[in-house]
Amino acid sequence: MKYLVVLGDGMADEPGPGKKTPLEIADTPWMDKIARDGAMGMVRTIPEGCEAGSDIANLGILGYDPRRYYTGRGPLEAASRGISLAPSDIAYRCNLVTVNAGIMADFSAGHISSSEGEQLIESLEGSLPGIRFYPGISYRNLLVVHDGSGAVTFPPHDIVGREIAPYLPEGSDAAILRAGMEKSRAVFADHPVNRARVAGGKIPASQVWPWSGGKYPSLPCFSDMYGLAGGVISAVDLLAGIARCAGMEVITVPGATGYLDTDYQAKARYAVRALERLDFLYLHVEAPDEAGHLGDADEKVAAIEGVDGMIGTIMQEFSGTIAVLPDHPTPLRLKTHTADPVPFAILGKGKDGTRSFSEREGMKGKYGTIEATEFLPLLFS
Ligand SMILES: [Zn+2]
Repeated sequence: MKYLVVLGDGMADEPGPGKKTPLEIADTPWMDKIARDGAMGMVRTIPEGCEAGSDIANLGILGYDPRRYYTGRGPLEAASRGISLAPSDIAYRCNLVTVNAGIMADFSAGHISSSEGEQLIESLEGSLPGIRFYPGISYRNLLVVHDGSGAVTFPPHDIVGREIAPYLPEGSDAAILRAGMEKSRAVFADHPVNRARVAGGKIPASQVWPWSGGKYPSLPCFSDMYGLAGGVISAVDLLAGIARCAGMEVITVPGATGYLDTDYQAKARYAVRALERLDFLYLHVEAPDEAGHLGDADEKVAAIEGVDGMIGTIMQEFSGTIAVLPDHPTPLRLKTHTADPVPFAILGKGKDGTRSFSEREGMKGKYGTIEATEFLPLLFS
């Protein structure tokens, strides 16, 4: 038996009376077919007391209880890039952000390109003892504190439009992190990359913003847990990092950007090929979440329809068991994640009368509400 899980990041929204969610508005014949010919339920992906985010949610869905295994987003992304951490290293996600007059204006520095980001991040390397900077994809870079012990930090996407002052790092590593942020403000202020961006009508990357630091997590091997050869397709470092820590194959798809312009059909083609040799594929698409963060309803619907078209292409070739779900809601109204349970649908294990893939239909499904770590055991049962 072969299994495909399609994870549409942030697809879910807030169902309310008299108001349709993006999943209900979008034209999604393939997801609806999975619901109609299959069965649905709701899954609680964010355990009580955990922060609502893709790291927590995806770990849980893959069967790793985040309360036990989650150490931070930074170390997972470090794993995805093959950066080896010493036992005393703390790896932080290091966003390039735009702060304007003390206000967090953009958590992504205008979705800065990877080549611009790399030049900015490399200009910081070696500037402070005890800190190393690693360039990544777009605004998503890494900062490693040697002999660190962690800090209380805040995700920059949660404070857009707010004063940054109350959200600066606190705790053991705070001084060195704040020094790194200060240094970046000085180095970036007159950086050629920013001069060119401003001249081209774009917003500058004014500084780095480190968050979600931790030590390298030790996850049990996916194949030992389930007896299946598993792989992950994702344009996002975080997912590739979870996959590497879990001993799963990471499949890179050219044209998969982790943004609204991603190549859905390329992902579909690579998925079909990967499923010829793997038992299990986890196919993650970031775009709906990004649209949710922008609060852009049309883009969110378009991203969901892109995911659906991708599923359609795969379903014409693949006859194994298919499941579809979001990792968490990213409601347009809030522009950030929430911890509410999300709908899932499984095709290939019986029907329950649900008619389309949506939050409201998921609540009527026969599986009821399950915990994230119960999801794969249910799928494989
Ligand atoms: Zn998000």
